[in-house]
Amino acid sequence: VIEIGQPEHSVVTTCAYCGVGCTFKAEMRGEELVRMVPFKDGKANRGHSCVKGRFAWGYATHKERILNPMVRAKITDPWQEVTWDEAFAHVAAEFKRIQAKYGKESIGGITSSRCTNEETYLVQKLIRAGFGNNNVDTCARVCHSPTGYGLKTTFGTSAGTQDFDSVEHADVVMIIGANPTDGHPVFASRLKKRLRQGAKLIIVDPRRIDLVRTPHVEAAHHLPLRPGTNVAVVTALAHVVVTEGLVDEAFVRERCDWSEFQDWAAFVSDPRHGPEEVEKLSGVPADEIRQAARLFATGGNGAIYYGLGVTEHSQGSTTVMAIANLAMATGNIGREGVGVNPLRGQNNVQGACDMGSFPHELPGYRHISDDATRDIFEKLWGVTLNNEPGLRIPNMFDAALEGTFMGMYIQGEDIVQSDPNTTHVTAALSAMECIVVHDLFLNETADYAHVFLPGSSFLEKDGTFTNAERRINRVRKVMSPKNGLADWEVTQALARAMGMRMDYAHPSQIMDEIAATTPSFAGVSYAKLDELGSVQWPCNEKAPEGTPVMHIGGFAGGKGKFVITEYVPTDEKTGPRFPLLLTTGRILSQYNVGAQTRRTQNVVWHGEDRLEIHPHDAEQRGVKEGDWVKLQSRSGETSLRALITDRVAPGVVYTTFHHPDTQANVITSEFSDWATNCPEYKVTAVQVSPSNGP
Ligand code: SF4
Repeated sequence: VIEIGQPEHSVVTTCAYCGVGCTFKAEMRGEELVRMVPFKDGKANRGHSCVKGRFAWGYATHKERILNPMVRAKITDPWQEVTWDEAFAHVAAEFKRIQAKYGKESIGGITSSRCTNEETYLVQKLIRAGFGNNNVDTCARVCHSPTGYGLKTTFGTSAGTQDFDSVEHADVVMIIGANPTDGHPVFASRLKKRLRQGAKLIIVDPRRIDLVRTPHVEAAHHLPLRPGTNVAVVTALAHVVVTEGLVDEAFVRERCDWSEFQDWAAFVSDPRHGPEEVEKLSGVPADEIRQAARLFATGGNGAIYYGLGVTEHSQGSTTVMAIANLAMATGNIGREGVGVNPLRGQNNVQGACDMGSFPHELPGYRHISDDATRDIFEKLWGVTLNNEPGLRIPNMFDAALEGTFMGMYIQGEDIVQSDPNTTHVTAALSAMECIVVHDLFLNETADYAHVFLPGSSFLEKDGTFTNAERRINRVRKVMSPKNGLADWEVTQALARAMGMRMDYAHPSQIMDEIAATTPSFAGVSYAKLDELGSVQWPCNEKAPEGTPVMHIGGFAGGKGKFVITEYVPTDEKTGPRFPLLLTTGRILSQYNVGAQTRRTQNVVWHGEDRLEIHPHDAEQRGVKEGDWVKLQSRSGETSLRALITDRVAPGVVYTTFHHPDTQANVITSEFSDWATNCPEYKVTAVQVSPSNGP
């Protein structure tokens, strides 16, 4: 029995887990959080919530939180507690020493999609203006960077097109590489409501996710494609649309570049992109592809939602553009009920990208080489900015192993657990001379750190998160920072120690600076957010109350751009040694590497990651339900228990990555998206064999 007690006051704030961005009332008794109550006026959730937002906040006060800064000379030395001032002085001295020895480009940092927009903005400002280089990247690199690239190339804006309300107007919904009931539960509830009203559902996923058949919901079509064949299947859908005369020609002529469309239409019409040919490589029956394409093109408002099963591939950006092509060809952009919508994984992936966390882009997705944009920031910050893109995360690791990148500030990100090819990551971290980890817990990455700066949870700070529908939600401080400083204050103090001027008294002033420098945020202020509850960017003179649906009447970047999407098979091949394909995902009650959910009393009953394997593949290997199995790839191996199920097709296995013991990323491959370096987490050739356990 948990004794709850009576709250004395409440504070409205935003869930810090997934990209749905649900609003909650944090009910408090003094400094103690009593309970989180879903807020009925929250525009993303309308009073709904899932188990994580409602119950999984205990990590914020968990006994394993580190509350004092710590330093050590070598990673084999014990940690020494120091004061904040000593820690900042030490980091500044070390970073300056490294730059004096190895050059200006020898240090950099990673911003976090877990942190607020304001905190992210400050980290990229520290790196660009303080470190004097553009070696800033974000954990969106390993999840939705292809979304940024693909949607900017085709639509002119690196973001989803709709608000969540829009699904209530959809007639046909296509879900590609996403599992909303586990990953985005509150959006899934809104989607299911629409499906129960009669909207049709098409699912493109290697695995039979719950939405394929769940009480009162049955997908019209499930296309269980072989992992790694997204581009081929989406292009085959377009082939049917074009060759059967189902293109919305009026839309394309008015909104898109007609000549590019014609080139694209000729490309997709080639018989090698037809359903029969694509069946051979994807395993999806040609007839299912045909029927799904006809339904999407002729069934009324067609909306596409996708997830990491699209982006985390060597052709992630190509698939995003193939999806955009399909939406434009069928006229499904620019009104309610349609659109292309990335279901963002983390609470602030959208915001981290918006805030200039990529090495080639300043806030608002403006290229660092653009003189006019740099001029805005140079005048405001009083510096001259480097006009060359900096290093992406994987390039930082490579440079570390080459001896040219020696120092790193990592805010709110456990790269040892979350990035691919763990052995490569740890070798790179071991080669560096000063790694600063800024986090709530001594995570796996902290094993390689020389300085640990305690982080603050979302309950301890003011700021904003931007959810998957571009909605800027307020995060409000409900308790004092347990470590004494909110994350934005830590970055500011570090910047000052490095000799930079930073004088913000409150995160609202950081947002004012963002609004002053970033056209899509020009109308955003804390006063407006308090008044309206939230706003969706673009929010500016043209749209003072924000923009729920984008591209109405025309694309933000001018004409919609059709892109040729040639299918290129991944280099991650199956063969006699590694005959199965592993793909990954997550479960409802856990979250990513589990640093927060595993430290929350309410969800501890989900104890381990399991390997889903088809009965045929299990029998061939003598594996029974619950047996320990060894999972091997070209990169490494791990052990976990088997779960025998026909949710996965023969030849495909699946696991989650919530538990550090499993270390799923020990086995993921080195391959990544050609345009953005987003790792190919979703396709790894593996072998499964019986084992005696770890
Ligand atoms: Fe939080 Fe996402 Fe659950 Fe909403 S759906 S409560 S944002 S984890």
